[in-house]
Amino acid sequence: MKDTVVKTKEEWKKLLTPEQFHVLREKGTEQATTGIYNNHHEHGVYLCAGCGLDLYRSEDKYESGTGWPSFTAPIALENITTSEDNSLFMNRTEVLCRRCGGHLGHVFRDGPEPAGLRYCINSAALHFVPAK
Ligand code: FE
Repeated sequence: MKDTVVKTKEEWKKLLTPEQFHVLREKGTEQATTGIYNNHHEHGVYLCAGCGLDLYRSEDKYESGTGWPSFTAPIALENITTSEDNSLFMNRTEVLCRRCGGHLGHVFRDGPEPAGLRYCINSAALHFVPAK
């Protein structure tokens, strides 16, 4: 993907809500069950709230019971990047938007079969567009 989105902190602050900024640009985590897409079952696509890249599909969303939107897979692996995150005394794999580098959440290996992955994504990092 060549069209990388690069903005300064000030530019992002103008574009995003404080919560979106905290999650996407400061690697924040929204409180469990508080996100707008936690209990959300419409048919459509979840885009990056920062740059609009399509990240997840409603077909891959499932009820993990964790309080965060959970997906078994991204729309395309090349739309995300992952990075090792050893903060907060945990070993986790961070998930980021490939285009703008925004922090989305983490991916864990306790998801449903066959892939066994749980993409635990902050609602604040996403923007849902219903299917037409
Ligand atoms: Fe993005």
